[in-house]
Amino acid sequence: AKRKGRNTWQVFNPELAQQQHDRVQIEAQLRRALDNGEFRLVFQPLVSLGDGRVRTAEALIRWHNPTLGEIPPDHFISHAETTGDIVRIGAWVIEAACRQMAAWRDAGLPLERVAVNVSYRQFLTEDLVQTIAHALREHGLPGSALELEFTERVLIEDAPDTLNTFEALRALGVVLTIDDFGEGYSALNYLRRLPIHGLKLAHSFLQGVPANPSDVAICQAVAGMARGLGLDVVAEGVESPAQRDFLLGLGIATGQGFLFSPGLEPDSFAAYLRQAGL
Ligand code: C2E
Ligand code: CA
Ligand code: CA
Repeated sequence: AKRKGRNTWQVFNPELAQQQHDRVQIEAQLRRALDNGEFRLVFQPLVSLGDGRVRTAEALIRWHNPTLGEIPPDHFISHAETTGDIVRIGAWVIEAACRQMAAWRDAGLPLERVAVNVSYRQFLTEDLVQTIAHALREHGLPGSALELEFTERVLIEDAPDTLNTFEALRALGVVLTIDDFGEGYSALNYLRRLPIHGLKLAHSFLQGVPANPSDVAICQAVAGMARGLGLDVVAEGVESPAQRDFLLGLGIATGQGFLFSPGLEPDSFAAYLRQAGL
């Protein structure tokens, strides 16, 4: 049988054509989405595995477009990173999360902080620190009310002033956390160099727990390393009581996942927090 050349195959791949079509559609709609008010945030509780207490919420972006419907972040964030739109969108996320946090504090909700996801592209711009300082000031929040989650991609892009940016954020009191730890490029030396508070164990490692010995070994190793370095660990994607108990056994104190709650609209989140009896 004759092998077809790679290019020939690609040209006629209907799935690829569909993907390309989707990409063009998404990028065209993305450009206007912010001005049209199509984004909102939902909030997922980070739960203390021992006693069920909640001190932090992670803000997760949601996009509803009149033409395309509800588009999950996994389907548009990377496009927004390619086009650069993520910088404006990300600034909106920071602003909106701080606004919500301030409203909750005013309402007496006992939430210590809100975590937002920050793209590596935002770290490559000059005004990330300014954007954050401005949002905190505008809403009367201490830096400690805000946590930034960023992936290891930030570290490999290695912008000349990454370290300065981290230190400036740290000086504001902002909490800095590595997201999806272990999934990316994992050069561990930055853990010594940067003022980081904690890391979030990528949820792919939790999937096989407790049945899969390799996943178990990785979770144990990350927990041990974090303890030695004095870093907090949050486990993502906790879906079963068995996973929760396994994590508690490793001394991992905080988890996030469907076992507790998915991302919630602000009102439902406040209700969740009140009912968790805090
Ligand atoms: P992430 O930061 O790892 O966020 C956690 C994702 O896992 C969320 O999906 C959440 O809904 C989902 N999740 C939570 N608990 C469970 C669980 O128990 N099991 C499983 N299977 N999944 C769970 P979501 O909201 O679709 O977000 C996907 C990704 O999109 C995020 O992953 C993050 O990388 C990105 N993202 C979301 N919001 C923003 C944002 O405002 N800015 C940027 N730059 N990225 C964002
Ligand atoms: Ca995250
Ligand atoms: Ca994550």
